[in-house]
Amino acid sequence: MATPSGKMMTQQPRDAATPSILASIVATIGPASDSPETIRRLIQSGVCVFRFNFSHGDFASHEKRLAAVRSVAESMGVCIACLGDLQGPKIRVGIVPEGVGETRAGGGGGSIRVETGQDVVFKKGIERASVRSGASGPEAVLPVTYQTLIDEVAIGHKVLINDGAIRMLAVERDSLAGELRCRVTVGGLITSNKGINLPQSELSTSAITERDWECVEWALSKGLDYLALSFVRCAADVSQLKERLDRAWRAGGPWISVVSKIEMPQAVADLEQIVEASDAVMVARGDLGVEMDIAQVPVVQKRIVATCAEFGKPVIVATQMLETMIENASPTRAEATDVANAVFDGADAVMLSAETATGKHPPLVVDTMARILAEAERWQRATRAGPTTPTRLAAAHRGTAALARAAWGMAHDLNARVVVCWSQNGGTARYLSQNRFDVPIVAYSSDPSSCRRMALCRGVTPVCAEPPPSTMLGEWIAAVDAFLLARGLALPGDPIILLAGRPLGKAKATNAITIHRVGEPAGFGPHIA
Ligand code: PGA
Ligand code: MN
Repeated sequence: MATPSGKMMTQQPRDAATPSILASIVATIGPASDSPETIRRLIQSGVCVFRFNFSHGDFASHEKRLAAVRSVAESMGVCIACLGDLQGPKIRVGIVPEGVGETRAGGGGGSIRVETGQDVVFKKGIERASVRSGASGPEAVLPVTYQTLIDEVAIGHKVLINDGAIRMLAVERDSLAGELRCRVTVGGLITSNKGINLPQSELSTSAITERDWECVEWALSKGLDYLALSFVRCAADVSQLKERLDRAWRAGGPWISVVSKIEMPQAVADLEQIVEASDAVMVARGDLGVEMDIAQVPVVQKRIVATCAEFGKPVIVATQMLETMIENASPTRAEATDVANAVFDGADAVMLSAETATGKHPPLVVDTMARILAEAERWQRATRAGPTTPTRLAAAHRGTAALARAAWGMAHDLNARVVVCWSQNGGTARYLSQNRFDVPIVAYSSDPSSCRRMALCRGVTPVCAEPPPSTMLGEWIAAVDAFLLARGLALPGDPIILLAGRPLGKAKATNAITIHRVGEPAGFGPHIA
């Protein structure tokens, strides 16, 4: 049975709210979006990848959500990828108990307000925050989830809390008392579990924490499709995770691809090596905008996306894309423009975080994003001059990549409605996607895991199907015709471009390209058909 992905559904607009789009939408699943009805709505509106954020929730809640996504996807007959996002060495403030400092309206734990010029002390071995009187007035004393920070942050370096909202400088270390004293340069309200960024410090923590390894094992046991690695600093961090995943795969486990999150200046400095080592990349603008000067974020986004295009790696632009829609029913003009600009930069996918995980109206957010993407892509179609072929592919991949590049020219010259391939491991689909077609790429495989992973690639609609028993391609092409007609993707007589090899279903076999007219006898000539 052919099972198209979510993107396929969006090729047939059901109404004005669900236009056809090529870019993939990654939606973070959470309490606001984990009912089967909502999952179904999000898929219908264009979500191809669900993100499970290991920074929040326990395995039981992730497991429930994973089961819900899988059962809805199956009932809809679509291939949806599941991405687990590893927290990495994110450092957090410990608990700020009720009754300390200010009491917040509606409860939800305590909070301590700190003002410019005041001191904040990070202290080892404490469980809860407190306020004590110091030499120059009241000072907040905070527990921290990574105690070595107290030894490792250099005096004079920046210490930022809550995405940089509260800014401090380290001024003094008392090793005996296990304390690091910081002076506030921009004040604010400190609450439990707020993130801490140390943009100038070289910490000894490894990129993958013990908690992350537990999440990796969980992901392997559940067969997730992607794992995203936070706070990657160098290619070796990526290889460390890939080694574990490769070992699991060789022992009969699932194949999980690695997404490197670029959110530290060290990663930007080592960008090419990291992109080369990764299966996909995320522009994680949340931490990036704290770890680096926020003024650099737009240019760094362009650099990351361009580097991914050179290496032919899928890239996701993430964080605050439609942030105000967590609350509001429409985005700001700047947010709408940001989503469109991610398309113009050349992103494969755009991501929603709290907008869909905990926001007020996840389906409306995805509809809005899909509408913006559709308009951006309409403009792009009208202005695009040629394919964007990766220039730095490994030599082993150049044959299929050359076919894919040729397919772009053929599709363009013939005004083809769609490009179809058999892509057992997803490689051909990826090479096609890398050239940035203006029409959908329908990619067949009999491997459900390949199909799910292909859902991240721009323009690719995976179809999970068994190869026909005959080694001739004619039977498959007849099935393709039926599929395209049934989905309204093509009309009889429309030209389409086909890529395949023989036998269908064999990995790395793609070696032929042909023009076919829907409904006419198979076009792969007498030698290969
Ligand atoms: P996070 O990653 O939400 O896991 O922090 C995304 C980002 O930093 O932008
Ligand atoms: Mn982050």
